[in-house]
Amino acid sequence: MVRDIAEQLKVRFSEMGLEVPLEEIEKKLDELINGFRVPVEEAKRSVLSQYAKERKSADLVKVKDIQSEGRWISLKTKVVQLWPSESKLIAQSGLIGDDTGIIRFVSWIKSDLPPVEEDKCYMLKNVVTDEWQGRYSVKLTRSTEIVPLEEDIEVSSLVEEFVGAIVDIQSGSGLIKRCEFCNRALLKGSCGEHGKVDGSYDLRIKGVIDDGKIVQEILLNREIVENLIGITLDEAKKMAVEALDQSLVLDAFQERLIGRYFSIKGPRVGRYILVEHITSAPKISDKEVTELIKESEALGC
Ligand SMILES: [Zn+2]
Repeated sequence: MVRDIAEQLKVRFSEMGLEVPLEEIEKKLDELINGFRVPVEEAKRSVLSQYAKERKSADLVKVKDIQSEGRWISLKTKVVQLWPSESKLIAQSGLIGDDTGIIRFVSWIKSDLPPVEEDKCYMLKNVVTDEWQGRYSVKLTRSTEIVPLEEDIEVSSLVEEFVGAIVDIQSGSGLIKRCEFCNRALLKGSCGEHGKVDGSYDLRIKGVIDDGKIVQEILLNREIVENLIGITLDEAKKMAVEALDQSLVLDAFQERLIGRYFSIKGPRVGRYILVEHITSAPKISDKEVTELIKESEALGC
């Protein structure tokens, strides 16, 4: 029952130009109706007014301050990168940033917004934050206003480098399926927002690289994975079909990568580095060799 009301409210929010995840509405309703025994109509009003209020007070924030989902904010950002659209519902997606960091953004076709251009700066008024598997993003919706800026915004930590051993390939890697509507990776054939969908295949690696001091989470997209492993998406699909087992691809990735040293480079987005370049690295870095020599000298070897 709560789900039905949540669905009604989601439609109402949509009409207001607000994109609120269904589970989020459901959670709030469930808390009020089943938790606090608030009458249904009152619960609906309460949730409605909560979002309407948030919408009016879209504070100007910095990228690093985006730490929660479903928050309406405004950002002064530069478009760092535009990605080719893989979904018929997404008009544009890519990375935007300011002097505190960079973050993924999505602009929906139904939001009917003017397109943004790479390397140009904009004031994005009324965007909503989103979170998926620990990664934050912002959604441009029908109530978003895009104002081009004359000033240039310096974007921080555009590219980071890291040398270390890959110590883990996480679940959700290998041959995965993505929702055809929002491009999210499916969990057990289900999208967090759109439920059971057919999905389309993709290759991805979510991994952990360790330089002996820091562990860093990394994300490799299809193009990088294909080049690194030497298996194309079509070949991976064939492998999985022949073996009747999708996890075979993940096993192959783990076997090839875990314990090996790599040098990676790419922009930091939240807790991940989005790998744009990866090369196998010598097992010991020059710096470590120098330190080892120093140590052995100190020991009188
Ligand atoms: Zn979806």
